[in-house]
Amino acid sequence: MRSDLPTDADVVVVGTGAFGLAVAVHLARFGAGRVLALDRFDVGSQTSPRAAGLFKSVQADYLRTRLAALAIEIVRGFEKDMGVPVPYVQSGSLMIARTERHARVIETEIAAARRWGVTCDSITTAELVRLAPYVEPSTVQYAAYVPEDIYIEEPSALLEAYRLAAERLGARVLGHVPATNIVLGDGGVEAVETPYGRVRTETVIDAAGAWVRAVGRMAGIDLAVMPMRHQLAITEALPGTAATHPITRIVDAAVYVRPCRGGLMWGGFESNPLALEPTNHGEQFRIDNLPLDFSVLEGFAQAVRDVVPALADAPIQEHRGGLFTMTPDGRFVAGPVPNVRGLWVLSGCNGSGFSFSPALGRLVAEWIVTGEPSYDLTPFAPSRWPTVWDEATLVQAAIYQYTHYYEPLEAVDGEQS
Ligand SMILES: Cc1cc2nc3c(=O)[nH]c(=O)nc-3n(C[C@H](O)[C@H](O)[C@H](O)COP(=O)(O)OP(=O)(O)OC[C@H]3O[C@@H](n4cnc5c(N)ncnc54)[C@H](O)[C@@H]3O)c2cc1C
Repeated sequence: MRSDLPTDADVVVVGTGAFGLAVAVHLARFGAGRVLALDRFDVGSQTSPRAAGLFKSVQADYLRTRLAALAIEIVRGFEKDMGVPVPYVQSGSLMIARTERHARVIETEIAAARRWGVTCDSITTAELVRLAPYVEPSTVQYAAYVPEDIYIEEPSALLEAYRLAAERLGARVLGHVPATNIVLGDGGVEAVETPYGRVRTETVIDAAGAWVRAVGRMAGIDLAVMPMRHQLAITEALPGTAATHPITRIVDAAVYVRPCRGGLMWGGFESNPLALEPTNHGEQFRIDNLPLDFSVLEGFAQAVRDVVPALADAPIQEHRGGLFTMTPDGRFVAGPVPNVRGLWVLSGCNGSGFSFSPALGRLVAEWIVTGEPSYDLTPFAPSRWPTVWDEATLVQAAIYQYTHYYEPLEAVDGEQS
């Protein structure tokens, strides 16, 4: 038994990663009543603390551009609003292309982003070298700079801030309490079952990350989400690298680099990513058990050797990875499940859940408490696909989205929104 597990809650959040904790904070802040966030493992211990911590203002459509701006605004104001500091670095970011085609891709993206309110522009080679001394410019055909972009050095710092803020606002956040079933009655959700007893509630948010489908199935729904491995590495400290140097995205290689712990962090989007459904790997599978493959990162380091030479032979201090939750259209899954009253989903990160969690957590909480979010999140509706996906087609669509992370199809979609 656990004496800290209540028998009743107004909202139960299943999962305490970036999404679950963010929504718990805002639910508590908006006065949702008794908010309980549960995790089957340690709080905030799975994919979220393994993220790169990058925030990206330039997005593929109007809605995500506005949400990215809102997310940065929430992080900047977190200490003032919640009384808990969130350390972040406003480093700005660079988008770099070494081919003519990718130069056009960036140009198109930043032209749309500017119309949607993002400050960004192309820069000269001299500016590039001044901003990012770790970049060697000789093969760079085009570079753009986005001064508002930020990163969070240690992603666990944001998770810890969320947890502290949620608890101070009265939410209960418990690790090692798995949701084992969602009890439904005629009127919708009635309770969440755990090994330590049943919690009566009429509202459940499935924010279970790579296990989001497994939790959805507890309520009889199948979500079109496919977990997919993503990895990064961090070098030992390198002379001349400063925390304030910008994030660099080398678009033609689908590789990102940022300053980290005195060295550089890098990761990228390989063309043959590993789809991995955790429930096929046993009840006790956790992200610690995810098989990692450093050759993927060596490949990226080689691919960008002419632009960031330091990566090629630097000693490594950390190699880590986790599971993205990919969807067939590359968009989040956020909102109510239409046929199960009281069930909500917050997932489908597509590689950006850490940085969008401040905004989506707030909007979903607002939606639950007031009946409407302040941005129309219809494009992220859990029910947007008319049919259930067969597994092979879902994997194929998810891989397509993963491999096109830096070249989304709909670069100017949503302009009229
Ligand atoms: C290497 C890497 C780099 C990344 N870089 C970035 C980046 O720079 N910027 C960015 O925005 N995003 C980045 N991401 C993506 C980001 O990490 C994810 O989008 C985000 O962490 C998703 O959070 P989550 O809450 O959905 O998942 P998680 O953090 O995995 O949380 C889900 C939680 O649900 C719990 N859970 C599961 N089942 C149950 C159950 N039955 N009962 C109770 N609890 C349950 C799990 O234990 C887990 O703690 C990166 C990811 C990786 C792997």
